[in-house]
Amino acid sequence: MQPQPHNEGPAISSLITMDSDELADRLLEPATMQAIYEDTAAIISNDRTPDGLTALVKNVIETMEAVWGDIKPDTPDYACRKGCAHCCHQSVMVTAAEALHAAKFLHDNLTPSEVLRLRDKVAARARQTEGLDNDQRMDQRLACAFLNDNACTIYPVRPLQCRGGFSEDEAYCRNLLERREETQAAVASGSLEGKYLLVPKVLYDSAQLGMAGALGKDGLNSEPLDLTTAMAIALGDPEIAEKWLRGSPVFERARLHRQPGERADKYVTRPAQ
Ligand code: SF4
Repeated sequence: MQPQPHNEGPAISSLITMDSDELADRLLEPATMQAIYEDTAAIISNDRTPDGLTALVKNVIETMEAVWGDIKPDTPDYACRKGCAHCCHQSVMVTAAEALHAAKFLHDNLTPSEVLRLRDKVAARARQTEGLDNDQRMDQRLACAFLNDNACTIYPVRPLQCRGGFSEDEAYCRNLLERREETQAAVASGSLEGKYLLVPKVLYDSAQLGMAGALGKDGLNSEPLDLTTAMAIALGDPEIAEKWLRGSPVFERARLHRQPGERADKYVTRPAQ
């Protein structure tokens, strides 16, 4: 089984209640999920504030970078490097905590007018991608709003799903973007081997689910969100972290809805009527 592109995985909310056999079937790593779940639960129960939120996302990122750093030498080499951004034309599934963490980074590092300009750019892209599934988005070559000169402008706080995306072959990713249908069909038929690395995807997906599960258990809505729409919302409201912590449904418009697809389920911000 090949790892799937960024947002083609199952919904966070459905996975977190699965038993261990189901988790194994879904290519998750229960030990990572459990460790991140416990860390996150401990941090949020001690500090249910925007600072606590920052601390818990930082903890997940630092923990997982260390785990992946240890394992990396034993996995196949990857072709990913700065300036290669084929995969940044896909939809990215985030949790509210990740979006709030990235928004705080931007508020802390940009001037208010730069934040507003970026908010407008991200909101424009969110309007273009609304209702599109991942394949439709790739076919329209709609790059991530945070991509500039083929480099990620939120690299230190990029989402967990971006962190877990590695490919052995640049040509494979280019073909997936430029000749998507043909490339996906070849992978599905077995005539072409997919080139995304499985190990980092499984690890980072597991970490995302562990974090989402702990926050959800604490009453904080951690359903899967579309990165672009969530960031357009988060950048437009300086009080958004407090509102989300109080239980306000601030990210409703960014929520991803699952729809059945030909090869795999699709996730869209606005389901077809
Ligand atoms: S957040 Fe950064 S790494 Fe992720 S898709 Fe956007 S530009 Fe690429």
